[in-house]
Amino acid sequence: MAATSPPNYTDIAIIGAGPHAMTVVTHLLQKRQQLRQRLLVFDPSGTWMQQWQNQFSAFEIPHLRSPAVHHPDPNPYALRQFAQSRSHELYPPYDLPGTLLFQDFCQELIRRWSLQQHIVAAKVVRIEPIKPNLRSRFRLWLDNLDHSIVARRVILATGSGTPQIPAWVQKIASPYPQDRLCHSRHVDLRHLQLHGENILIVGGGLTSGHLALGAIARGAKVILMSRRNLQEKLFDADPGWLGPKYLKNFWAEPDWETRAETIQNARNGGSLTPAIMLQLRRAQRRQNIKIMEKCQVLSATWHKAWQIICDDGSKHECDRIWLATGTKIDITSEPLLTEIIEHYPISTAKGLPVLDPHLRWAGCELFITGGLAALQIGPVARNLSGARMASERIIPALWKPSLAFSY
Ligand SMILES: Cc1cc2nc3c(=O)[nH]c(=O)nc-3n(C[C@H](O)[C@H](O)[C@H](O)COP(=O)(O)OP(=O)(O)OC[C@H]3O[C@@H](n4cnc5c(N)ncnc54)[C@H](O)[C@@H]3O)c2cc1C
Repeated sequence: MAATSPPNYTDIAIIGAGPHAMTVVTHLLQKRQQLRQRLLVFDPSGTWMQQWQNQFSAFEIPHLRSPAVHHPDPNPYALRQFAQSRSHELYPPYDLPGTLLFQDFCQELIRRWSLQQHIVAAKVVRIEPIKPNLRSRFRLWLDNLDHSIVARRVILATGSGTPQIPAWVQKIASPYPQDRLCHSRHVDLRHLQLHGENILIVGGGLTSGHLALGAIARGAKVILMSRRNLQEKLFDADPGWLGPKYLKNFWAEPDWETRAETIQNARNGGSLTPAIMLQLRRAQRRQNIKIMEKCQVLSATWHKAWQIICDDGSKHECDRIWLATGTKIDITSEPLLTEIIEHYPISTAKGLPVLDPHLRWAGCELFITGGLAALQIGPVARNLSGARMASERIIPALWKPSLAFSY
């Protein structure tokens, strides 16, 4: 798709070109090839999987956390087949795909499904609900093109919310260099010289583990601080959430608040894999890392270095602080939903929208895949497995007239 000349109208607009969008598109094309001509995908990078690749490279992550059956192709065995001559890139204990293997596989999907032709290199800055002839439509405003596009249906696949910033950060009174305190989303290990530095990493999830090991490999000493005891788990959420074992009761639960609580409990903050935990313990024995559990920062002051006071009374000095504190997923953290919320008010539970079973926003043809769909999909909504589950819900509503929204 030529970036300078997108059409004025599209049937289906997908916002974002990450693994969730890719999963929707491959599943859609498998069901209905003829929808190919009616499909545009918007992403500022102008290419597929840019954000995914950036985050894996920036944290130097060697392999995925999820097993090889989870990926954007409709055939669950496709990645395993692709890896036939590269089986050494499937890591134990459950064939976790290596980062490069997964990226090459996704490139192969882009080629095989001819996905690049659908991409418009633009950020959608506004979704304006419009009602020509009393039918719900959307005008998508693009940042870099002097252009707007009307879409009949929109699928929101913009990823993982806004960074969660602890309250003590807002209270820092002293000016400080911006690069000395940042959320993990803005850390890129590849560009950093850290030899001889002390770094405080806040958070107990896998990202804090990756960043700690990356910093230590560059000659830094690390304090890893978590407000809870570190949790050791193979996966983000128990695999029982991938099928009826847990989902049967979850779907039977009529109270949305209870569902939202169940999701929080199932993800239970962040966790570290046994392999990363092993490496951290090894680094601890070599005194390259100090692990502080059940501990929180009370205050931080910058004076040539950070002076930190914690709630256990301890004091620390460090050169940088990295916040591996995760992201906030709720409808107010997605600016594109502002006007949708105004025009089509929706019930929420803990900030998550109550979508219909096809992940459709109440009253219009806007569909959501990703963490925001968790009240229907469950705790794995943001993961690759959740992308497949979301596609299976959304796609029938795109091509079966009986499931279309009735005005
Ligand atoms: C470091 C890390 C490792 C992970 N590893 C795994 C794993 O091994 N297995 C697993 O199942 N899950 C994993 N996850 C969780 C999840 O699968 C990923 O976060 C995944 O990237 C989510 O896919 P997505 O398509 O929703 O979002 P993203 O990959 O973030 O893609 C969203 C895209 O939307 C675009 N976009 C955003 N706003 C706009 C806009 N306004 N207009 C146009 N485009 C826009 C962005 O540019 C981006 O390209 C991991 C997450 C992280 C952070």
